[in-house]
Amino acid sequence: MFDRVALIGIGLVGSSLAHVMRREKLAGSICISTRSEETLKRAEDLNLGDAYEIDPAKAVIDADCVIICTPVGVCGDVAAKIAPNLKPGAIISDVGSVKQSVIEQMKPHLPDNVHLVPGHPIAGTEYSGPDAGFANLFENRWCILTPESETDASAVERLKSFWEKCGSEVEIMDARHHDLVLAITSHLPHLIAYNIVGTANDLEAETRSEVIKFSASGFRDFTRIAASDPTMWRDVFVHNKDAVLETLGRFSEDLSTLQRAIRRGDGDALFDLFTRTRDIRRSIIEQGQDVDAPNFGRDSAED
Ligand code: NAP
Repeated sequence: MFDRVALIGIGLVGSSLAHVMRREKLAGSICISTRSEETLKRAEDLNLGDAYEIDPAKAVIDADCVIICTPVGVCGDVAAKIAPNLKPGAIISDVGSVKQSVIEQMKPHLPDNVHLVPGHPIAGTEYSGPDAGFANLFENRWCILTPESETDASAVERLKSFWEKCGSEVEIMDARHHDLVLAITSHLPHLIAYNIVGTANDLEAETRSEVIKFSASGFRDFTRIAASDPTMWRDVFVHNKDAVLETLGRFSEDLSTLQRAIRRGDGDALFDLFTRTRDIRRSIIEQGQDVDAPNFGRDSAED
């Protein structure tokens, strides 16, 4: 699909892209760049690319597609570094979990003769680094692209087709809308997980050890989410502040309603909510976004 692709950042998502690009032969060559010599060496040992450059500005030379796979907080810095060497007509994209901030950070640095098509694969695990990647990560998962309205349609179409070849279904969406949807589907659940695991951690030692012992009663799934990369998630909350605060406000109001129902012994209100929430789970299974199996269908490798 592309003669030369540059991947800037080679953690879970970057290395998964490298694996699937190789398997599907989507790039003539892959050039990899990352912040540390150590990670770059590891990527080379894993044979993830064809060329390796510590300097991102060198990595993008002659690339017709550049995909930034770093935490969202450094996208602007990376854009500033690579801008002078971008090939005219190149597609510049990313995989960040927040989209409006990425556009605001990157756009001012980019020349007019390249096409910015931001992207977000809705696929991940709690693991990070170049060893964590695997070619099937994007299989049957959504990838959301958030180009601005004036973006060249053929560039958007080309990136859409690239992600489809990676195994994803693609949806085009406005960046702010993306950030609001992801605030409720991903960012808030992570915040709740970080909070509940943090609360458990602050309990006195004896209770904490019992929480871990009996974790299968629900707590365990929160610990999985709360094991996600701290840098990535710090950046998500800092860069999607407005949408997360809006969603958190609604969540807090609903929690207060539940609190009142429990205090008043209003079992009907609790039963009514718990019945409605079951339908959401059924819809997720019907749409193939999870399987109806014990332990949420996760195999031991993902646990
Ligand atoms: P990761 O495994 O922690 O890898 C991050 C990579 O970015 C590492 O190679 C790191 O390099 C590199 N990096 C950090 N700062 C850099 C800089 N200033 N310049 C160049 N490289 C830099 O992260 P990930 O899970 O792949 O996430 C990457 C992006 O994908 C994030 O924006 C995240 O929001 C998004 N995303 C993540 C998931 C998920 O579940 N993890 C899912 C969808 C989207 P060093 O090791 O050399 O420091």
